Order: sequence, then C-alpha cells, then structure tokens
Amino acid sequence: MKIQQLSLEKTEKYHKLSAMLGPFPLWFKTSSDCLIACNDASPFLCSALIPAMFMGEDIEIDRQYYVSASLLAKLPEIQTMMHAWNPIFKPIKVTANTQVFKPSASQLGHSAFFSGGVDGTYNLIKHQEQLDNLVLINGFDFSMPQHSWQQLVARCQKTAKLFNKKLICVESNLKEFTGWTGIARFANFGASLASVSLLLNPSSMTISGAVTYDAINPSNSHPLLDPLWSSESCKVLHLGLEADRAAKIALIKHYPEALNNLWVCWEDPSSNCGHCSKCHRTFMALQLNNISHFQFSQEVEFSALSKLSPKSDEDLSFYEYLYQLAIKQHNRQLNRVLRKIIWRYRAKAFVRETDRLLLHSLWSKWRRKTVAQHQLADVSVFPKYSDAIQLKLLRQRLKQHPKFISSANIGSIYD
Ligand SMILES: [Zn+2]
Repeated sequence: MKIQQLSLEKTEKYHKLSAMLGPFPLWFKTSSDCLIACNDASPFLCSALIPAMFMGEDIEIDRQYYVSASLLAKLPEIQTMMHAWNPIFKPIKVTANTQVFKPSASQLGHSAFFSGGVDGTYNLIKHQEQLDNLVLINGFDFSMPQHSWQQLVARCQKTAKLFNKKLICVESNLKEFTGWTGIARFANFGASLASVSLLLNPSSMTISGAVTYDAINPSNSHPLLDPLWSSESCKVLHLGLEADRAAKIALIKHYPEALNNLWVCWEDPSSNCGHCSKCHRTFMALQLNNISHFQFSQEVEFSALSKLSPKSDEDLSFYEYLYQLAIKQHNRQLNRVLRKIIWRYRAKAFVRETDRLLLHSLWSKWRRKTVAQHQLADVSVFPKYSDAIQLKLLRQRLKQHPKFISSANIGSIYD
C-alpha cells in the first residue's frame, strides 16, 4: 500500500490534511487554530497499518514525507500483538523516511478523546486538573450528517465549558475507510484514535478505556497497545481501567450537569434512544446507582433488557459487573435480568466449544456454507471462519475499483 499525495488545505476556518492510502483518499479536517504538519505522514501510517496487515501488503511512504522515528520503531510490536490475536493480520514491512520529533514540538497541551459518554466524562472528571483539551471526532464511530453532528458538538461543548476545557472537533472519513476494507471498528479503533492523536500532536492524548483491569481482552484499543502509537512529542495514554461502568457513574453523579449531559447511545448521535444495547446497559448502571431521573428519548422497558445479548467476552464482562452489583444491592429485578443474559451467553459458548471439540467444527462448517455473503461479520481481533472470505471480497473490490470515490455524508461545523 502506497501512502502518497499528502496535501494540506488551509482556509480561515479549517485545516484539512488528505492523502492517498492505496486507492483510498483519507482526510482529516480540524479548526484552523490547530497547527497541522503538512509533510508528516505519521497519522496516515497509523490509519493504514491494520488494513495493510489484513491485505498482507507492505507499506511504502513517498520519500518526500516523513514519519516519527519512535512510531516506526514500535510498529513491529504492534504488529506482533495484532497477529497473535488474529493471524489474518499478517506482519508487513514499512518503508519510510523518519524524523526524531522534538518533545517541545507539541502544539497543544494535555488532551483526551471525548464524545460525551460515561468513559470520557469519568476521565475528564478524574483528570480535570491536568487536562487542557477535549477532542471530539465525526466520522469515527458514526459518520454524522450536519444536524446530528452540530447537536453532538453543542452537547460536548456544554460539558467542556463546565470544566473550563477547550473542545477541539475533528472531522474525517476514517469510518468509511475502515468499513470499505471489511474490518470491524473494534479491530481498527485504537489505530484510528492514534492517527487523530498524531495529527493534532498534543503533549499527551488520553484514550478512555471501557473495561477494567480484570477484564482486559484482545482489542485494537488496549492498555498495552495504545501507548505504542506515541511519537517523541505526543504520548498516547490508555486510562480508566480502575473503574467499571457503575463505579464511573457513581463519580459522575456528583456533577449533576455532566450527568444530565451524558450521551451513551449507539443509535442516535443527538439523544439517548433508550432501546439500543448501550442505552440499556447504562440504564442498568444508573438504576444500580439509584439514579432514576436520567432522560432517555423512549422509556426503557424492563422486558427488553433480558433480551440483551453480549457480543464478546469483553461485552460480557460489563454484564458480570452489573450482576455482582445487583447481588450486593439485593436488587432482585436486575439480578434476574442479568442472570438470564449471562446464562444465555454461556450456553451459546458451550455449544460452540462442544462443536469444536466433539464434532470437529461440523456445525461451524455447515454455517460457513449457508450464511449469505452480505451477512458476513466484519474482520475483528478474534479469528472467524468468515475472515478469509472477507479478504477475498476486498481483493475483488480492489480489482473492480482501482480508485475509490469517497461519498460518506459527514457533516461539518467548518463549512
Ligand atoms: Zn441508544
């Protein structure tokens, strides 16, 4: 994969840095008061690494640009970790000119990613003395159209003002790029945040962890992996593993305005829908903190909670914590709901293991044949039978469309 044609567009309102990553045009746009280096390809290297490993293609960065020497030196370790988790990500070679950045080259102080959720708000409260800036991205988890993006910016601006922090908004087509490669957000999550970290180049950038020390699982955003993306001038941190979701809410509830301003939803970027799994999970954590006044757009129904289905061991760990808390607080209603969710996950895992060990994966092989291509799961950090099919499909797409045309509807506050 070649990284080339870096270009920096400067207007009164914004700076936009773009480059070609193989056939894909990737771009980042941010406020014109953030200084962006026009020859530093480090942000694009972070974005390209996981897709290039998936394709098994070496990365070659045009010699007129450079990357952080420290970042380049740590790429083999990042690759070893990703390969160990899912061998579909193959170790590759990266060729680039390097520069040793001066630690004083940072343009911004201490910063943290923030989208108004529980993890970010907890991190903001806990480190409010050290933090200078909060960084919000459009085109990362969601590609939000104009109206939803403006609403989310206003919501986060409110919290930023409460704590006297500067909110920096970044817009990008990162999500579109990852989606096009067939890689799940979960497998490129930390790398995408690393690319925005190195783009803005603050002295430190914090990623707020979602899990606790006793539930660390393979993930592209991981306490061992995230710091490896650091450059000489920007330290990438992964914090917040000391507290689970309910403990984080217990801290946030001391700041009622921040609590009311939380955005916890997977579905609707402008409000909390009350019917997605993240809203449901947060609802239970709120209940276990005796908070009943939190506003969801739609009232949460108890009957819907027991239908929740954890997607992975990491996801399960959130429910395990809530279950322990429900037992401690003698909350019988939530105890029953959570027990049902956990039992169902464990039963499915038992069936999968039985198939693997006793039936030599007969059931999985049958499934492989019957699942339609459009139902295939994206490639994640855990190997799946469909990974090889996704890779074949990506190679077909590359043959058919040698030049990708970016078309995602990504709202902008700078236009
Ligand atoms: Zn929701």
